[in-house]
Amino acid sequence: MKKIASVCPRNCYSTCTLNVFLENDRIQRVEAHPGNQATSAGTCLKGISYVDRQYASDRIVQPLKKDPQTNEFRPVSWETAFETLVERLQNLRAKLDQKALFYYSASGTKGLLNGVGSHFWKAFGGYTTSYGDLCWPAGLEATRLTLGANKHNVPWDLANSDTIVLWGKNAAETNVQQMKFIDRSRAAGGKLVVIDPRRTVSAQRADLFLQPRPGTDAALALGVCSEIIRRNLINTSFIDQFVKGYDAFKESLDAWTLTRSSQETGCSEAAISALVDLLGKGERVSISPGFGMQRFSNGGQTIRCILSILVILGQLGRPGAGWLYANLQSDIFSSVPDPLCLYPPKKGEGDPSVRVAISTARFGRDLLALSDPPISMLWVERGNPVTQNPETPRVLEAIRKMDFRVVIDQFMTDTAREADLILPAKTLFEQTDLIGAYWHSYIHWKPKIVDPPSGVKTELEIYHELARRLGIESEFSKHVPEPNEASIESYLTDKLAAFPELDVEQLKAGPQLAPGTQEIAFSDCVFPTPSGKIELQSEEAHERWGVSSLPDYTEPFPEQTESSHPLILLTPNSHTRIHSQFENLSLMKKFGEAPCATLSVQDALRLKLVDGDVVRLFNSGGSLELPIKLDFSMKPGCVSIPNGLWIQLGGTVNLFSKGLETDMGHGAAFHNTRVSIEKVNGS
Ligand code: SF4
Repeated sequence: MKKIASVCPRNCYSTCTLNVFLENDRIQRVEAHPGNQATSAGTCLKGISYVDRQYASDRIVQPLKKDPQTNEFRPVSWETAFETLVERLQNLRAKLDQKALFYYSASGTKGLLNGVGSHFWKAFGGYTTSYGDLCWPAGLEATRLTLGANKHNVPWDLANSDTIVLWGKNAAETNVQQMKFIDRSRAAGGKLVVIDPRRTVSAQRADLFLQPRPGTDAALALGVCSEIIRRNLINTSFIDQFVKGYDAFKESLDAWTLTRSSQETGCSEAAISALVDLLGKGERVSISPGFGMQRFSNGGQTIRCILSILVILGQLGRPGAGWLYANLQSDIFSSVPDPLCLYPPKKGEGDPSVRVAISTARFGRDLLALSDPPISMLWVERGNPVTQNPETPRVLEAIRKMDFRVVIDQFMTDTAREADLILPAKTLFEQTDLIGAYWHSYIHWKPKIVDPPSGVKTELEIYHELARRLGIESEFSKHVPEPNEASIESYLTDKLAAFPELDVEQLKAGPQLAPGTQEIAFSDCVFPTPSGKIELQSEEAHERWGVSSLPDYTEPFPEQTESSHPLILLTPNSHTRIHSQFENLSLMKKFGEAPCATLSVQDALRLKLVDGDVVRLFNSGGSLELPIKLDFSMKPGCVSIPNGLWIQLGGTVNLFSKGLETDMGHGAAFHNTRVSIEKVNGS
């Protein structure tokens, strides 16, 4: 059996290096590759499912066109698909403006070649697109403002920590390989703290577990900072040398006591005090925050507050210590790094052919409001905005108002169902590419391993053929390779030429650390902020985002009373999906649980509900019926439905979320969401 090195290109912390086993031109199995120190322990269930996914019977393997009379899809030839597209695009260019086309691309698959779409649409004459991001920009911006850059220690260094805090992160399900290094630390006497409104599988392994009210993590962090200062656990020499704004920050903490922090968060004073003990006494402290809590309207400031704990303790730039939010050290091919590349250009800057006019967080609302020209055609690739963007009803309304919709996907997602034309997408094994990561900093060569099914074309093939038929091939071809393996390899090899440390042949055998990787981030004590110091006080935070220059806490649910919609909606990720991906696979159905809403026993007693009752969850966005599961470990006042459910498989959680931006970074404040529950009669 042939063994080929590859990588999982999903939007997942781990970016696992894989060994793919091939026999008779068919992928037989996928295993972890030993060359990646971060992921050699094994893949997650999703990695194991790749064989299932590659050969799934419901994979789309030919173009599908919707019959406007019946709304049914029927297979069409590529010739028909291209003729339809050319006619639509020529009409759009002649009658409206190229900016009447919205190009939506998301993070369903990572890779350097994902940039070909924007080159095509520029060659076409222009397009409209969005700014911001659904995932992590509030936390990225908060980290950038404080430390100057988003990077952290190599994942395996966590084993050197003696206090590890998983703050709003359920690594045992969403970053499984991290648990190996946590276990190593604990085996050597280290302590694990988990802070989460749910008693997750990660929390079950913790030495200390705190369960704050969702959205109040900043209040917890400020109480902790205040207590660290009161107990004189700060690292004075570190602060004197490397920190700007400590005195002002200290003064702002006057109002924060353990009692106030306890009142805001619902955590006991004793638990917060125990957290301070572990943080203050730990020789080497690491905090690994998740992405969920920065998806509140106060998300950026929350991350600044939590990061401040490490700053005043001086727990940065040393082995076993640090802030593990995002490690962008392998993002070596971008000219502008995240999060700055996610922001709309300033007036007069940017490419005039590209209209960056839609906030990703307000996708549906902004599309509906856009004029001059309004959007009449949608092109979606690597994304599923119907399920994944906030405020599904507005997203659907905006998409259905358009004249024509094209979706490239492997499966019939909720967004694909809205399309007029679906083009089948390649899988990770069907085209060569280069892949970075955001937890470790390995660069990967992801080779083509099998041919796609005969009816599937890669995006590169689709765009080249369209460019030829539209007469823009010479402009388009200036920027992208020809759609064949030799040309792609040569294009990627040219990209690598700027980095002599990276060798193509070695990359083909396994991953290589990105050139210049700092195994211990900030060990040089260089902080590329405006002051050159760690900025607890940031004028840029105030000027750019209008927030306080100091980290602070704002209640995320100020205008909604308990009585309107009393339950805070949690929408966590799980081990069986990456957002809406993998949901449909038969393997996941065997191991995942059927769609349900999880509720605390206390709330169930109050609402007179029992396990298995079918309930209607509702708010002003709409309603959804699901069975409930009672769980002693859930924070009372919360209800949890997994992120990524498909409408056609039970209902998307974004029915309930609002089109609201985070306080910084143009992220999506999905989690400022409350719902009510009532029992469905007869259940
Ligand atoms: S989904 Fe994440 S953990 Fe699973 S195989 Fe891919 S990169 Fe690894």
